[in-house]
Amino acid sequence: PDPSDPPYLRGLNGPQRQAVLTTEGPVLMLAGAGTGKTAALTARLAHIIATRRAWPSEILAVTFTNKAAREMRERIGRMIGDAVEGMPWLGTFHSICAKMLRRHAELVGLQSNFTILDTDDQLRVLKQLIQADGLDEKRWPARQLAGLIDKWKNRGLTPADLDAADREAYADGKGQHFYALYQARLKTLNACDFGDLLLHMLVILKTHRDVLEHYQQRFKYILVDEYQDTNASQYLWLRLLAQARKNICCVGDDDQSIYSWRGAEVANILRFEKDFPGATVIRLEQNYRSTPQILAAASALIAQNSDRLGKTLWTELDAGDKVRVVGVWDGPEEARRIGEELEDLQRQNISLDRAAILVRAQFQTADFEERFTRIGMPYRIHGGRRFWDRAHTRDVTAYLRVVDQPADDLAFERIVNTPKRGLGDKSVATLSQIARGQRISLSSAATFVANTDELPQRARSTLARLTGDFERWREKRDQLSPSELAELVMEESGYIAMLKADRSIEAAGRLEDLQQIPRLMEEYETLEAFLEHISLVTAADQEATQEQVTIMTIHAAKGLEFDHVFLAGWEDGVFPSQRAMDEGGTASLEEERRLAYVAITRARQRASIYHAANRRIYGQWMSSIPSRFIAEIPPEHVESENSFGGGQSLWRANWSAQGDPFAHVAERNPARTMTRGPAWQRAVAQSSTITRAPAPSEKGPAASVGAKPRSDLAIG
Ligand code: ATP
Ligand code: MG
Repeated sequence: PDPSDPPYLRGLNGPQRQAVLTTEGPVLMLAGAGTGKTAALTARLAHIIATRRAWPSEILAVTFTNKAAREMRERIGRMIGDAVEGMPWLGTFHSICAKMLRRHAELVGLQSNFTILDTDDQLRVLKQLIQADGLDEKRWPARQLAGLIDKWKNRGLTPADLDAADREAYADGKGQHFYALYQARLKTLNACDFGDLLLHMLVILKTHRDVLEHYQQRFKYILVDEYQDTNASQYLWLRLLAQARKNICCVGDDDQSIYSWRGAEVANILRFEKDFPGATVIRLEQNYRSTPQILAAASALIAQNSDRLGKTLWTELDAGDKVRVVGVWDGPEEARRIGEELEDLQRQNISLDRAAILVRAQFQTADFEERFTRIGMPYRIHGGRRFWDRAHTRDVTAYLRVVDQPADDLAFERIVNTPKRGLGDKSVATLSQIARGQRISLSSAATFVANTDELPQRARSTLARLTGDFERWREKRDQLSPSELAELVMEESGYIAMLKADRSIEAAGRLEDLQQIPRLMEEYETLEAFLEHISLVTAADQEATQEQVTIMTIHAAKGLEFDHVFLAGWEDGVFPSQRAMDEGGTASLEEERRLAYVAITRARQRASIYHAANRRIYGQWMSSIPSRFIAEIPPEHVESENSFGGGQSLWRANWSAQGDPFAHVAERNPARTMTRGPAWQRAVAQSSTITRAPAPSEKGPAASVGAKPRSDLAIG
């Protein structure tokens, strides 16, 4: 290295330097995980500013998360000092577009102080429109419409742009009608949703030359990280802005494209070279993040995908540990084992900040939260709400709070009309008025109005039914365990039925969460003890200063790295997800495999894959088989172990009944049978010879299985 190099160039390899120094013209950096794409992009930004090619305010830099933008800003600060003040246009697509749109809002009929709706608001608006139109919301759920509208917006389509097929997609051709109504409604509300931030800007840039030219002149350089996950409207927006100067640098990895469900199009990578002819394409092949074992495992896995550009990766790091594959009995044991491993790290004085648990689906976090709260393991759930903070789990605990404390007005208010009981806002307002006037609780007011004519008859009988329900639940309290009571309340309140009627994906996830509730409550003797526990879990949320392990979805972990990575729930049906398997085609399975690649490549030193023999999904114990992805990792990079916390005979019965647990891999992917190597044989052999571990002292898996027996588990 040249000692006269500015700090931001020091330590960069050849192609990285090229990416930094080729400032003019289009540049596409295509490279695998951990090869320093983000590092090079950051150095490029520093270089542009340090060499005065542009002011910080003349650079448009897009990152995938707000956190990534913050980190990039800090790193540049360390490289070049104060010169990096501001960087107003460094952020996510959404944050940058929101900022732009505030300046030009009037061009699309909004005021600059428009509000940005969240998903709940969005749904409420759509529901109102659907109802006003006299459409059956059960048949044509608002969520379905919301999903379509998002999809259209991701593709950069306004209502006028829809084609016949799009129009047909909702309520027999009413999709376009509702889309247009919805957009008009948002305008009167002076609001826009997430998709609008981009779509409105796209429309403005397309229809107002002066605005377009202003930004084309302003942005001397454009930089984009995680380019493989841009959707069509983001791509069109970038292309418009870059069209004049063409100083655009995009970095990405086709193998890490994991957002096609949100409209991301890997094809944008191929389009880039077409739209920007003569682009410099830079490939990075040296990985600086992971040990060779981890890298080899990840590379072999992703090599199973057919739809990829293909690349080689190498590293100079020491070999390191093999990828561990750990078989456990069930979800709670998985959480217990990972908890123990984290305690080991603590004993070695390794900061918990360096560890992460990556899950495929949000519902998987519940077991960890439960366990970690119990053993006092500091953790945070990144992205997504904590289990007990989610709207639907809060609804359920609100019911239980009212059972416990009839005077809990906040809780009562929350659920008085959830699920919908046809109580209008006016009735609820009158009820609060009475409660305030009489200085009684809302529950008491609800009982009180039954004998008055303060409210319409319908509202009175609805309230009478609800208070009657609560009385009945309160009476059952002594006969039932808290978890049985919760089950009863969720059922009888109509809450479960409400979610079942909702055909959206979110509703399925919520239902899954609710099914976990009784299980999580099993260990509490009284309702009060449980409710106390919940409030503590929520309070623990605020202590963020200490070192803590991060629990996050793989999607949220993109671009990040951790020394120790625990990959939980690698079972068919969880990962790959049941949906991807049901869809049958290779496309969704390949996306799951890319997700697996992203997951493994987050690890610097150690990656541990967990799979459980039994998992409770949709409230039902299912015997599960290891993820097909495990079999795709070559045995020489894997170290298998099984530790079933009891119930080994069940496990064996289970497995022998199924035969080879990887048989499905052979069945569905004939070409992949080759990958079932010695490690797998070893794992199978171990599984039946392993000496039975002592039964766990806590409520063990066998006990939970016993609670909800399944015929195929009840053998032995
Ligand atoms: P991903 O595909 O996961 O987003 P990436 O290609 O963006 O990965 P980075 O996060 O930029 O990779 O870098 C991975 C790790 O390698 C980081 O810890 C980074 O500091 C380090 N690194 C990058 N380039 C070099 C280099 N030339 N020398 C030493 N370390 C480097
Ligand atoms: Mg990166």
